Amino acid sequence: MAHRPVVLVVGGGYVGLYTALRLQKRLSRGRAEVVVVDPQPHMTYQPFLPEAAAGSVEPRHVVVPLRRTLPRCRVVTGAVTGLSHADKRARIAPIEGEPYELSYDVLVMAAGSVARTLPIPGLAEHGIGFKNVGEAIYLRNHVLARLDAASSTDDPEVRRRALTFTFVGGGYAGVEAFAELEDMARYAIIHYYPRLSPDDMRWVLVEAMGRILPEVDLDMAAWTVKQLTVRGMDIRLNTRLESVSDDCLVRLSDGDEFASDTLVWTAGTKPNPMLAETDLPVDERGRVVCEPTLQVRGMPDAWSAGDLAAVPDLTKEPGATTAPNAQHAVRQAKRLADNIVAVLQGKEPVPYRHAYAGSVASLGLHKGVAQVYGVKLKGWPAWFMHRTYHVSRVPTFNRKARVVADWTLATVFRREVISLGQLQDPRREFVQAANTGRTGQLPPPTSEDRAQSGSAQAS
Ligand SMILES: Cc1cc2nc3c(=O)[nH]c(=O)nc-3n(C[C@H](O)[C@H](O)[C@H](O)COP(=O)(O)OP(=O)(O)OC[C@H]3O[C@@H](n4cnc5c(N)ncnc54)[C@H](O)[C@@H]3O)c2cc1C
Repeated sequence: MAHRPVVLVVGGGYVGLYTALRLQKRLSRGRAEVVVVDPQPHMTYQPFLPEAAAGSVEPRHVVVPLRRTLPRCRVVTGAVTGLSHADKRARIAPIEGEPYELSYDVLVMAAGSVARTLPIPGLAEHGIGFKNVGEAIYLRNHVLARLDAASSTDDPEVRRRALTFTFVGGGYAGVEAFAELEDMARYAIIHYYPRLSPDDMRWVLVEAMGRILPEVDLDMAAWTVKQLTVRGMDIRLNTRLESVSDDCLVRLSDGDEFASDTLVWTAGTKPNPMLAETDLPVDERGRVVCEPTLQVRGMPDAWSAGDLAAVPDLTKEPGATTAPNAQHAVRQAKRLADNIVAVLQGKEPVPYRHAYAGSVASLGLHKGVAQVYGVKLKGWPAWFMHRTYHVSRVPTFNRKARVVADWTLATVFRREVISLGQLQDPRREFVQAANTGRTGQLPPPTSEDRAQSGSAQAS
């Protein structure tokens, strides 16, 4: 039997899933074997994470299971820890067992980005990112647990610290998470916490630049700041986070300092650092250098796209590269898969070209901001556009149906605002019971006990 080329897809996110879906559709099994490697068994539809954190969408519905969606591909749950494209061999660390090497013929590098952090004292100990579904679930439970803590104490300091929520980074991910979670907390307080008032909360967004939402025009960004400010939220432009102390004292570059139990870092991303363990060419920002055809420069059978790739933007001035967003990722994946099929059939690959259409952002239930093809929308129409656009984009009919069902149920019944705090540490009670059984005495409280009883850190 003739050798079937192995197409190795590193990462099953936007680019990886959409590439594999298209290869699965266009290549028969006998033509090539597609292997998708990702540490998670699912793709995450990141634009829905803020709604998942706010309880408008069930978290399971914002992820797409790889094995169910890619029945004709081989899915490996593990991480690629490095590769030599010269030898066409990748190192795989499965979730269990010894690492091993995998030989391939064609490479698709789609391992995305990671949070770009700074060496700020206390950030690693107290901060949390907002890039995956675990972080979204954690934050939802954490914010609601802070309301429970504040409502169950008479200590004004504990209450103030619990009700102060600090976000760093004003791109769309940060602004959406900030606004959606505030909206949920406000709703919860009004309906279920008679001892608290929305005015007791303090929501602070810290942004180093002089504006937020660089994806939309300045007037739309200024409108968004005004809307959030009217809601009582505190937007600090031209300000940086300086440090966080062990007792959660947040210090800002404008001289302000306050205690805050919640610190969310959404100040940008950087290409996956795993690229340093490969022989793929990278630019000064650590991104894989690509040709307009999405082939890696100098390596015609290696391809890349998405957040970790420097792809020339043919709609802009020479030297410009496409922005790291879902709009490009999904279109690049389609072009990339079609180009792989073309090359396997002995045809020429086609350059990628897409002019950025604009951005839509949700700012809470019935609130949003959008700028698409030059059309600017504010409030309810923008929010509606955000929902219709993303439900049309989320992969598979199954996920579309479930997300729409979640939204429909939320309009019929009240919003679900219960904190499942036990999810943060499910074995705690059992371990405590087992330890008590052994010694006959209650063990001393652990840091988790203290966190659950009122001083949890967002770490
Ligand atoms: C909260 C949030 C909201 C967003 N909202 C929008 C929006 O409204 N509009 C928009 O256009 N964009 C949005 N984005 C950006 C968009 O989601 C990304 O640009 C897009 O996901 C990039 O696709 P990707 O395939 O490059 O990376 P990803 O989708 O992140 O996929 C990378 C995959 O690689 C896997 N991986 C990581 N390391 C390894 C390894 N060593 N080996 C194998 N696999 C690995 C990861 O598990 C992941 O599945 C948002 C992002 C976030 C975080």
